[in-house]
Amino acid sequence: MIESQLTPGLRVRIDRNRCVCSESCARLAPNTFETDDEGLVTLLAGPFDGETAVRAAAANCPVAAIILEPVDR
Ligand code: SF4
Repeated sequence: MIESQLTPGLRVRIDRNRCVCSESCARLAPNTFETDDEGLVTLLAGPFDGETAVRAAAANCPVAAIILEPVDR
């Protein structure tokens, strides 16, 4: 599991064990997700896409490999 702080109140986690290389996340939020040489999702260093784009990427992942979690501030 790889995770990063997306905004002060939101954390994004990716589960590479679930990823099936569809690349839809990288198309919807290209400043947040990319696929590596194996075709598996990885997180970029930021600055990230806006929350709407990242939420769209998570919602469109066919295997729910992108998890968004609120963070207590
Ligand atoms: S959309 Fe989901 S399955 Fe497709 S590359 Fe991204 S994390 Fe992997």
